[in-house]
Amino acid sequence: MNYYEALCYNCKKIFRVYEGSLTYKQFKERSNRIFCCEDCSHKIRMDAIKNFFR
Ligand SMILES: [Zn+2]
Repeated sequence: MNYYEALCYNCKKIFRVYEGSLTYKQFKERSNRIFCCEDCSHKIRMDAIKNFFR
């Protein structure tokens, strides 16, 4: 399986972006220059939900 290694802007860790995912497509097309790992995107989403209900 093909993958790219990307740097998470949030935790500064290298994570793998596997073929078939949206991030992989963005990475390949360079349409997005900021990437975050699954852990962080999950955390960010949860924080956003928490802020929304505050
Ligand atoms: Zn991260």
